[in-house]
Amino acid sequence: MRLLIMGPPGAGKGTQAVHIAQRLGIPHISTGDLFRANLTEGTALGLEAKKYMDAGEYVPDSVTNGMVRDRLKQSDAAVGFILDGYPRTVVQVAEFDGMLAGNKLDKVIVLTADIDEVVGRLLNRAKQQGRADDTEDVIRRRLEIYTEQTAPLIALYADRGVLVEVNGIGSVDQVTSNIFAALNV
Ligand code: ADP
Repeated sequence: MRLLIMGPPGAGKGTQAVHIAQRLGIPHISTGDLFRANLTEGTALGLEAKKYMDAGEYVPDSVTNGMVRDRLKQSDAAVGFILDGYPRTVVQVAEFDGMLAGNKLDKVIVLTADIDEVVGRLLNRAKQQGRADDTEDVIRRRLEIYTEQTAPLIALYADRGVLVEVNGIGSVDQVTSNIFAALNV
């Protein structure tokens, strides 16, 4: 299974992707996690990404595309994957299509959640995890960029006939079972 999970920051993509990955025996590949791991390790890529992440901006496509391309070449991704946080721009979709090299994307899951709900969740996460990009100003900026650059990808994947929309409001377990039902797994 080759899956994407999309939705605004705070919609619960990472949480749900972990459950889906376990159930289907595929790796969960999160670009946000990959950037943060690079940052922890102090790599050049991590230091470059930090400038953008801390401001709520997208890391340049040239950096992000290369990182995902390398990750998808690893052997565990041969059985499929659930990709979380990529593609996020129209340019990334074109690059990603190339990486798939004709392999079919099975489904694109969109988790829906209204703005008030996601801002509340992110502020709460800020208190618990202290992520540098979870301050109120940066959260607003991340939502703006999502609306401008990433939300349009929903229509693009709908046109390709692979979109499944799932309500992201509810308990984690409820949302997980809604996703499994929508995927028919
Ligand atoms: P969230 O989904 O809550 O925004 P993530 O952990 O997925 O958080 O991403 C954190 C940050 O990492 C983003 O705000 C952005 O700076 C960077 N990032 C992640 N994925 C991408 C991407 N595909 N393109 C550009 N930047 C990205």
